[in-house]
Amino acid sequence: MQAEIIAVGTELLLGQITNTNARFLSEQLNSLGISVYFHSVVGDNPDRLAAQLAIAHSRSDLVLLTGGLGPTKDDLTKEIVARHAGRSLTLDLQAMETIQHFFETRQVPMTENNRRQALVIEGAHVFPNETGLAPGMAVKHEGVWYLLFPGPPSELTPMFKNHARPFLESLLADQHIVHSKVMRFCGIGESALESRLEDLIDQQTNPTIAPLAKEGEVTLRLTSLAKSKAEAEQQMRSLIAEIQSRVGKYQYGWDEETLEEVLVRLLQKRNLTVAAAESCTGGLVSHLITRVSGASQVFPGGIVCYSTGVKAAELGVSPEVLRQDGAVSEAGARMLAEGVRQKFNTNLGVSVTGVAGPEQQEGKPVGLVYIGVASAQDTTVQKLNLGGLRNTIQQRAAKLALFYLIK
Ligand code: ATP
Ligand code: MG
Repeated sequence: MQAEIIAVGTELLLGQITNTNARFLSEQLNSLGISVYFHSVVGDNPDRLAAQLAIAHSRSDLVLLTGGLGPTKDDLTKEIVARHAGRSLTLDLQAMETIQHFFETRQVPMTENNRRQALVIEGAHVFPNETGLAPGMAVKHEGVWYLLFPGPPSELTPMFKNHARPFLESLLADQHIVHSKVMRFCGIGESALESRLEDLIDQQTNPTIAPLAKEGEVTLRLTSLAKSKAEAEQQMRSLIAEIQSRVGKYQYGWDEETLEEVLVRLLQKRNLTVAAAESCTGGLVSHLITRVSGASQVFPGGIVCYSTGVKAAELGVSPEVLRQDGAVSEAGARMLAEGVRQKFNTNLGVSVTGVAGPEQQEGKPVGLVYIGVASAQDTTVQKLNLGGLRNTIQQRAAKLALFYLIK
């Protein structure tokens, strides 16, 4: 549903007041999942308002108008919208009662123009005004909804919240449901992912695709508007297949799943165990794995092998490797992964060794990280250049270690 807001009032154009109604209504519409594409301001002029309505009619499903519902001559919103929709104005009895009551209790005579405030567009759905006199209303013309509200924010705000918002919610419920699915990726940056999906992101309408990067991961939120969840999933199916054909090797999960949960469930399912040898992550990989309940079945433990001494003594990294390649090296990562696998007698061993910074180490740059994964068959080592400060590098390295275990 595409909406626009027309604020009516010469005082807005003169700069005497700020259009806070548009801000309020936009915020409300967006929170309902309704996109607002245009804001406009028109003076109290019948021809220019009629022209603006014609433009709005051609491009929006929902047009919200504020101002010009009062009793004076310059308040002409209702009349112009009625003419635009080919309708007449009729008296709303409830509004009339409210107005009569207002004048009776104040013991002032009611004038004819006050009666005008009780007029509504024929066939309109009326929104009562709890803090003023002029009712608001909703009327549908050729598939486009027009919602009219009084100008004063003290009248608009309660009217919107108590009457118009529930009305819009019921319109939306009749029309569609909003269904989202999140695809979770690791091992690829946001811009690399986006560039591979650029055409899909450019063409997006329904479902929409929203990428988001966070802590070493990238997510894509797909959102569908449909009549039912089944229809929404049907709409998403071919898009998901296309995304997976391009970047599926980086996807590790769905929706709220975490890397560590996916890993632990996968190891449980395959009846496998893993041990971790961590240098620059200082135990973060072990920490993440043990956050998942049931981790004890798949993770007997690990070693924080921060010094070269511990790497050599506890995990069998050879003195030649330490001398020639250094601890931060492909050979180092390989020996650590294999060493910890043997030491804990697990199916898999994972190792992380790198330079978290802020200082260089062994003449190697900050962000250089090697991640090793050893199994009975083979050992693979990934060489990475991670960006960010010390903490970010550690977080990213730990997540990537989990990711390479999954993949
Ligand atoms: P009234 O019955 O008070 O005449 P109305 O519905 O006819 O209400 P207007 O006459 O257009 O509305 O505006 C009345 C007052 O409401 C303005 O003087 C201003 O204080 C406030 N107002 C109107 N439009 C806006 C707007 N877009 N943003 C913020 N305030 C507004
Ligand atoms: Mg007015």
